[in-house]
Amino acid sequence: MTNKKIADLIQEQTQHLRSIATEKIQSFKDRDLSRPVTSWIKEDRLQNEMGYEFTIIFRTCACSWVRSDSAGCTMCGYYNDKGPDSIPQKLILTQMQYAVNKHLSKLEEIQKNGGKTTLKIFSSGSFLDDEEFSPITRLDVINKAIKLPSIDHVLAESRPEFVKHETLDPIIEITGKGSFELGIGMESSNDYVRKTLINKGFTSMDLQHSMKIAQNSHVLVKTYLLLKPPFLTEKLAIRDAVTSIKKAISWGANSISLNPVNIQAYTLTEYLFNNRKYRPPWIYSVISVFQQALSPSIMDKVLILCSPSASGSFRGVHNCHDKSCNTRWLNILNEFIKTQDKKIIDPDHLTYNDCSCWGEYNVFLEYSSI
Ligand code: SF4
Ligand SMILES: [Zn+2]
Repeated sequence: MTNKKIADLIQEQTQHLRSIATEKIQSFKDRDLSRPVTSWIKEDRLQNEMGYEFTIIFRTCACSWVRSDSAGCTMCGYYNDKGPDSIPQKLILTQMQYAVNKHLSKLEEIQKNGGKTTLKIFSSGSFLDDEEFSPITRLDVINKAIKLPSIDHVLAESRPEFVKHETLDPIIEITGKGSFELGIGMESSNDYVRKTLINKGFTSMDLQHSMKIAQNSHVLVKTYLLLKPPFLTEKLAIRDAVTSIKKAISWGANSISLNPVNIQAYTLTEYLFNNRKYRPPWIYSVISVFQQALSPSIMDKVLILCSPSASGSFRGVHNCHDKSCNTRWLNILNEFIKTQDKKIIDPDHLTYNDCSCWGEYNVFLEYSSI
């Protein structure tokens, strides 16, 4: 089968699943558009120390890529949280105010104790897309953000096609250089994996171009990498992630977040999972990627992050059915991220044989086709 045929089939099935999701969403008439999808404050690893993240997931008209004929990425179900196409911009600011009111006392407490917080502006789309956040709304959000107690860093996400100097420069004028970070979903350094298997729609050249623009505007770049996109075996997925980490660093990423795939509703990945053609990655694989990809010199200059959704569950990164096995390995992973100390995942110091699934994993790695 040609690459084009494979890409067309993947896109057709993604479009079909997205149309089911669209029908479902239309039945959610009671979504309160003056509130964000969700918001929270929790401990987080910051550039140089532990601190906090204040995350707001805005409800917008959804990611431009998923609204296009492409139907979006094969593992992404964020579309399911979308608001109407015509959501008024003033409601975006009302959503922010709602989240601020809810968490203000915690932010004040963090500030009183000398802590630092990163505000994470997510919309399951692009903060730099004028359809989701108009230029005025965008700057209003940033202006409000930097006045909040304990906030000293702002992170937002965008697809590369929206990364432009004229969009970034006004933001940096407000936050100052080095205090605004842009998260870009690179997913893989391999164009076939990204464009065809993930249906992401942009090339490595597009990505590198956008990273250059961001760097020239004094914006920090965080790259998200996907561990185990659909259609890759566990072994190939590890190899892809190791290569991608090294490439992302050579392209100038300031931080890297490795995201093991979790199963989201109405996605091609969920369809494969339901048909036993896909298994989310093992926690052992996440550790293995970091063991193979990270040298001391990389750890010195790049922040490594991994905060997997649905971890330990059947639909997220997990080892076996034994809760204590998953908890033990997730704790090792969290400790490594918190400390950025690679000794924590040194294979000579890890007790792999505490659970029998280590043997099962090694057989799976060698022989499984999913
Ligand atoms: S992963 Fe990002 S770019 Fe892809 S559909 Fe989801 S929000 Fe859009
Ligand atoms: Zn186990």
